[in-house]
Amino acid sequence: MPVKEIAHRLLDFCYPGTCASCDEPCDGRTSLCDDCMIKLVRLEMAPACDRCARPIPEFLAPCPHCTGDGISPYDKIVRLGIFDDPLKEMIHQMKYHRRWPLAEVLADRLVSHESVKGLLQETNPRETRMVPVPLYHWRQVSRGYNQSEVIARRIGKKCKIKLAHPAIRLRHTETQTHLSRTKRIENLKDAFALTNARCVKGKHVILVDDVMTTGATLQAVGRVIKEAEPATLCAIVVAVADPRGRDFTAI
Ligand SMILES: [Zn+2]
Ligand SMILES: [Zn+2]
Repeated sequence: MPVKEIAHRLLDFCYPGTCASCDEPCDGRTSLCDDCMIKLVRLEMAPACDRCARPIPEFLAPCPHCTGDGISPYDKIVRLGIFDDPLKEMIHQMKYHRRWPLAEVLADRLVSHESVKGLLQETNPRETRMVPVPLYHWRQVSRGYNQSEVIARRIGKKCKIKLAHPAIRLRHTETQTHLSRTKRIENLKDAFALTNARCVKGKHVILVDDVMTTGATLQAVGRVIKEAEPATLCAIVVAVADPRGRDFTAI
């Protein structure tokens, strides 16, 4: 029996035919019921800024969030979809309920998303490195795995791009989600440290994270990696919170 088939059977055994978002019955292979799958495709297809990945009113409209400048120090950020259900619940299930196969489902959807395909085509895979946003050591031990690492590893395997771990996280900063933007930036100061500059120097670096809210975490880790002088610095995130959304400050 091929490994993939065994994995699918295991998945069905662990989560017998329930939608990862609404608990309705579904085919275990897709992880979502038909209704949620349609909603997911809508979130994936919503227009996004091609520099900062935040939602824009229509395709090619000027971005009201970054006004075309992107999010420093990134050249470009791309995303799978807007942080809303079913994507929101899938991420929650993946992170806090150890439904880890969802990380691979999301990675597969990222690889076939136009924005991600476009980004990956811009550079030579041999000169590119994927960098999962690191978790604080004890956080990773308690959760059992780093969801960004699982996603980055899967994308890397499919696209023949090596992973690199140039930085570590010195503190746990997840409680920052309830803080204002200014307080988040303060909270993230010195949260990351560069431990291996050589592995990304002169490379095209792509950070991988699950959710971008204000972008403060990505900026903090990006600034540290920038010290290693990569050729370019971009990011792939699963979901981007809509700054105009009612949940924006609460997540
Ligand atoms: Zn559903
Ligand atoms: Zn923008």
